[in-house]
Amino acid sequence: MTSPEKRNWKPQTAMVHSGTLRSGFAETSEAIYLTQGYVYETAEAAEARFKGEEPGFIYSRYANPTVDMFEKRMCALEGAEDARATSSGMAAVAAALLCSARAGDHVIAARALFGSCRWVVETLMPKYGIETTLVDGTKNEEWEKAVRPNTRLFFLESPTNPTLEVIDIAFVARLANSIGAKLIVDNVFATPLQQKPLDLGAHIVVYSATKHIDGQGRCLGGIILSDKEWIDKNLHDYFRHTGPSLSPFNAWTLLKGLETLPIRVRQQTESAAKIADFLAEQPGIARVIYPGRADHPQADVIKKQMTGGSTLICFDLKGGKRAAFDFENALRVVLISNNLGDAKSLITHPATTTHKNVSEEARAELGIGPGTLRISVGLEDVDDLLEDINAALKAAR
Ligand SMILES: *Cc1c(COP(=O)(O)O)cnc(C)c1O
Repeated sequence: MTSPEKRNWKPQTAMVHSGTLRSGFAETSEAIYLTQGYVYETAEAAEARFKGEEPGFIYSRYANPTVDMFEKRMCALEGAEDARATSSGMAAVAAALLCSARAGDHVIAARALFGSCRWVVETLMPKYGIETTLVDGTKNEEWEKAVRPNTRLFFLESPTNPTLEVIDIAFVARLANSIGAKLIVDNVFATPLQQKPLDLGAHIVVYSATKHIDGQGRCLGGIILSDKEWIDKNLHDYFRHTGPSLSPFNAWTLLKGLETLPIRVRQQTESAAKIADFLAEQPGIARVIYPGRADHPQADVIKKQMTGGSTLICFDLKGGKRAAFDFENALRVVLISNNLGDAKSLITHPATTTHKNVSEEARAELGIGPGTLRISVGLEDVDDLLEDINAALKAAR
């Protein structure tokens, strides 16, 4: 197998070529190596591969050529030394968290987290003797105040789901470094194109590749990226022996997603900015939160750490739940779904779906009200989206 030499490519080029392992058939498109195992020419070759003296694949729970291509292409995009692809975003988050802490350690996380991430931090980790504290991640002093002598790990997501709060990643990374702790960033909402947590000082980045990286709503996947030393020391054995591995077929789907990721995210962000500006001027709307707008509560932090707005918009209808439901039901192009990052525009009412299990008090803390809606902007023509949204706003009045 041959792979192209490492070059200083811009993201759009790297996403088409980086990491490609071309077989002897010299195929243009990446091959799907749908195999569990690998064979050896001789018993000596098998022995050498198991000893690590000869490179090569052993078993697809450990590594697989198609999965390898996906990991290498993601490393090129993220600027990371190494990565492990996983079967879902949650497999990536759970592995990154559990492999970074042990009984007796203390973890500080932002309270605005994707629901399942919050469950891992709040419910699963304490079961194994790991103490956790949740803070308002937008307030730097809250991170500082929560530090204890046994704090070993920080975890955050920025922008957050669904209210698109932004956390100062460089600040939390400096705090982590000052006490010899690690920072994990869930970078799903920003995508690897609009925010580079490793450059901001974070140690580990995780993605649900299910979202923008697939980008067309087909398969689940995830990835953990970090330096080679952390992966070798903390993740390597866990990964081999617990098996959160990504299927080669899904890795191929995600590789194909990466080819178009830069143009999709650019287009979706451009449309989202127009829709956010349109929404902000409508009388039935109480507030619009969009990281590309000057009136975003953390606009100064966004300027420092993000290179683009977002493909998501959060807004509140003045008429509460009834108005929000009427609005959703009147949409003809935008679809009702709890997913995001798809080619199809999707709308979510967090209070009754993704955040249904969060107490009303916690929802209020997170800024999720009965009239709060989240739109994930897709690849449709923005004029059709604006017309759809405008008609739905009239229906919700
Ligand atoms: C979707 C999502 C996850 C979980 O990913 P799955 O692929 O659904 O397991 C984790 N974090 C964030 C921010 C997400 O949006």
